[in-house]
Amino acid sequence: MGQQGGDEFEGRVQTLEDQTALAVERLMTWFDRTARDLPWRKTQDPYAVWISEVMLQQTQVQTVIPYWTRWMDRLPTIRDLAEAPPESVLKLWEGLGYYSRARNLQRAAREILERYGGVFPGDAATLLSLPGIGPYTAGAIASIALDQPEPILDGNVMRVLTRVLALEGDPRAKTLNGRLWSWAARLVQTAHTTEKLGRRRCSRLNQALMELGAMVCTPGARPDCARCPLSEICEARRSGTPERFPELPSRVAITPRYHATAILKHQERYLLRLREGTEVNRGFWEFPNWEIEAGDNPETVLGSRLGIAPNAWTALPDLRHHITRYRITQRIRLADHLPSSDLTAGTWHWATPAELRALPMTAAHRKLARRLEPEPGKSPQLS
Ligand code: SF4
Repeated sequence: MGQQGGDEFEGRVQTLEDQTALAVERLMTWFDRTARDLPWRKTQDPYAVWISEVMLQQTQVQTVIPYWTRWMDRLPTIRDLAEAPPESVLKLWEGLGYYSRARNLQRAAREILERYGGVFPGDAATLLSLPGIGPYTAGAIASIALDQPEPILDGNVMRVLTRVLALEGDPRAKTLNGRLWSWAARLVQTAHTTEKLGRRRCSRLNQALMELGAMVCTPGARPDCARCPLSEICEARRSGTPERFPELPSRVAITPRYHATAILKHQERYLLRLREGTEVNRGFWEFPNWEIEAGDNPETVLGSRLGIAPNAWTALPDLRHHITRYRITQRIRLADHLPSSDLTAGTWHWATPAELRALPMTAAHRKLARRLEPEPGKSPQLS
């Protein structure tokens, strides 16, 4: 389906503009009544809001709550984050994925400490200059924590606005995306100038838009229009097929990939390797693994890499996980053996069970490490 022209968009915004004040008022009334009680909503500390927003870009609210609580407990200030050992920052992020985000949080914290004396910058333009902070995160910190009339446009808000205006075309494409940003700006500006809506209006309006996308105007086939405070003005609801919007391009095909992964155990220690340099997930520890073809024999690959005879390995159940468009199958093999090659120094480490729990690992390797932990009174669940 083609994208509607600029005139049509402007016409719709113009029509809705008469109702913008009503929409803002209804959104905020609805939010005040139904907002979830989330821990980061109890604070106006921009540092705390920043951490929550970056974590929420990774995963669902319920998953973020324990991560955020633990993070704020261990690293309650910008200085704590800036001065923390990088390994402990990665450990706190472990399991959330996209680990460059955790590294950028620390880089930005160091910059705030060095350039701004540890005081969080108070405007979106300065926030945007910090590592890892893009327009969405800058807008979220400035509006939610600092109550400034800065717009936000994440996936939830994009879906709500696209549906209210029944906009055809890919909302991530440049022109349409720019228009959505400008409408988001009008909405928060309207909240900012409408004094009768009470305190912290920009903060509440942007959170209301996000909340509506998360709880009512949900992705897929079932937006709950009957419960929606914007149902009266929503063009998509009026069309009868609100789920048709937004018109996102179809997802890229999933590509299978295979890894041969070794659990090498010797005298109650496990061989791990540190990812470093420019590798993805650098700073994380993992069990030795190499990418293989679907039909390759894992014992042969691991045997030649680690200098252990192919018949020394025991097969364990495969482990499957997804990373972006890849479905990765780890073919796991166990051996109780010292490798003949020298794997005792540098990026290699024979970890005790306690170290295995403490070192940062990516989600897939953490899952594997948990299999090695015995349940109370039992042996490890290795098969
Ligand atoms: S009326 Fe329905 S489609 Fe429109 S914004 Fe509300 S929930 Fe979404």
